Amino acid sequence: MLATRRLATALLACLVIAPVQAWGPLGHSVVAELAQRHLSPAAEAEVERLLAPDHTRSLADIASWADQIQDDPAQAALWKQTRPLHYLDFRHGDCNYTPPRDCQDGLCVVGGLQHYVAVLGDPTQSDAARGEALKFVVHFVGDIHQPLHAGARDDKGGNTYQVQFDGKGSNLHRVWDSGLLSTRGLDWKAYAQALDSRGLVPLPSPIAPLDNPYAQWAEESCAITAETGFYPDDHKINQAYVDAELPVAELRLREAGRRLAEVLNLTLQGAAAAPAANPQGTRQ
Ligand SMILES: [Zn+2]
Repeated sequence: MLATRRLATALLACLVIAPVQAWGPLGHSVVAELAQRHLSPAAEAEVERLLAPDHTRSLADIASWADQIQDDPAQAALWKQTRPLHYLDFRHGDCNYTPPRDCQDGLCVVGGLQHYVAVLGDPTQSDAARGEALKFVVHFVGDIHQPLHAGARDDKGGNTYQVQFDGKGSNLHRVWDSGLLSTRGLDWKAYAQALDSRGLVPLPSPIAPLDNPYAQWAEESCAITAETGFYPDDHKINQAYVDAELPVAELRLREAGRRLAEVLNLTLQGAAAAPAANPQGTRQ
């Protein structure tokens, strides 16, 4: 009886502290696996070398590490320092990325990507620093494509927008993290396989005059959250909402996967000093 109650309490605690940090593990692992399937041999070898201390060669395995460190007391300082790098608030009424207004001191997901892609591509950095940077890059490319991680409203990325989903109370952020994707009933491997079999996703054309591609990715997310119907007026996530928005979520996963592969292929292209990634090919 006591054991049962303890178990129930433990389960409840898990539910209460479940992290709401962008795509859940499913979405992050799908993005990472999509990228892994399109790595160049040089990038693949470097990924394997940098992840050796983690006893894996799979990007999907480390894709949620940047969220998981919040539960590790030994990483408390790193979590505190990197926590603002998971998102960006376009709360000033438009989706035009305007630094420093939208990214004070580089403390937003655009700044996080700029910083960690540079560390990853810097051969003078230690393998430990570059391995850590790889884990952040894999995670943040996923985050920046979750529309509510660069949303247009001042509502903590939809966390304060309550909705009914599957007969239960939830919020829009959580629905986009994991609720929509979970309606497929697939694990990350099967999900990545299903999305990859649709072929290489075409990427949106560059928006001028941005000076870095990550800002564009954030602006795309913001624009999605500003579309009619993204916020359900009746606060209900019904089948019509899933039918309309799941394809959007899956498109973002595919774009994130393709772009992550491009970033890693450019940044890890060889032993020579690699430049910071310029995934759009023309601008940095
Ligand atoms: Zn995150």
